Amino acid sequence: MADEVCFRTLHLASPWSLSAYESVGGYQVWRKLLKEKIKPEAIIDELKLSALRGRGGAGFPTGLKWSFMPRNAKGQKYIVCNSDEGEPGTFKDRDILRFNPHQLIEGMAIAGYVMGATVGFNYIRGEFFEPFERVEQALQEARTLGLIGKNILGTQVDFELHNVLGAGAYICGEETALMDSIEGKKGLPRFKPPFPANYGVYGRPTNINNTETFASVPVILQHGGKWFLELGKPNNGGCKIFSISGHVEKPGNYEVGLGIRFSELLSMAGGVQKGRRLKAVIPGGSSAPVLPAEIMMNLTMDYDALSKAGSMLGSGAVIVLDETTCMVKMLARIAHFYFEESCGQCSPCREGTGWMSRLLHRMEKGESKMGDIELLNSVADGIMGRTICALGDAAAMPVQSFLKHFKNEFEYHVTHKRCLIKDL
Ligand code: SF4
Repeated sequence: MADEVCFRTLHLASPWSLSAYESVGGYQVWRKLLKEKIKPEAIIDELKLSALRGRGGAGFPTGLKWSFMPRNAKGQKYIVCNSDEGEPGTFKDRDILRFNPHQLIEGMAIAGYVMGATVGFNYIRGEFFEPFERVEQALQEARTLGLIGKNILGTQVDFELHNVLGAGAYICGEETALMDSIEGKKGLPRFKPPFPANYGVYGRPTNINNTETFASVPVILQHGGKWFLELGKPNNGGCKIFSISGHVEKPGNYEVGLGIRFSELLSMAGGVQKGRRLKAVIPGGSSAPVLPAEIMMNLTMDYDALSKAGSMLGSGAVIVLDETTCMVKMLARIAHFYFEESCGQCSPCREGTGWMSRLLHRMEKGESKMGDIELLNSVADGIMGRTICALGDAAAMPVQSFLKHFKNEFEYHVTHKRCLIKDL
């Protein structure tokens, strides 16, 4: 296990403490930037060299995203951290908040310096009470030392950071809904453009990145973009935290270099539980298309390889399914989640997620009618690309991929009114 980037304090006693963070070089980069007045462009170049890509799911190059912010535009600009981790299967950001909060604070402060923003918001999922307290405590320590606030370390640089407890809705993790929520409104996604870099929180230029993305920045600048790049592979720089769950012996978070073979990652997690056969993997959170074992066992875990194989790295939530899994039941559970979390603004998503959930539940219970599989497919096709935000696609993609790779199980449920796996 690499443990070199976001989890670099984990081996220490009280890894969340300021002393633990400083013992691994914490806040050195921040102090150096301020003292030497390093040019923001030089930092962006280093991030581009590192090939750091957004760790929240989209995988957009971070250096490029930071360069989009109109640095010299007059008036208020904001930095926002999306810590509203809610994708089923994902549980990495909460561990950064709990175990290494100072690194996130330093990363956000650096972002403020680079993009000329003096205020930041860390939007933390509403149910994360303990992580919220940890970050609050760390923020207080950083303020006391003069690392955050006004005239930081005696310079002209200001950066005030606020933790915001989220509204408790999955959709508030969508960046435009998240910004509404910060403003105290109901979190509802809106069309883009305008993008947050031009029209963000309170209508001002805003940069939004994920917790793991911001937390990676101080380490990249401490060791150099090339060092980080070489932890992964070209175009997929650095380490990534994989949250491994499902049918494995040792579920948990594993921080490893991008490009690791899936088979190796599976071994690190103790292999498939009870020595059973691997059936399938959802490699990037519940919205990522499922892939059968024979494809996964030959894949590397990086943005490009998974996209080429027809899925995505997403947030790095790896859900492992063994041979005892009923794919109809699994998909019914996923479909119900998206149905419950749809905000209801777009008809294809609002109605389509409900239809998919109901069709799958009656299929699972052996109450399907002939033609239900075709209907399910057509509902999913009708959602794809026709909604305001990505939740619609996130609901449709699992349906399409489960039907593509495991259609025989769905057909068995429809024709025999029973589960194929139970009958084997
Ligand atoms: Fe709301 Fe779904 Fe439309 Fe997103 S796709 S805006 S969640 S209705």
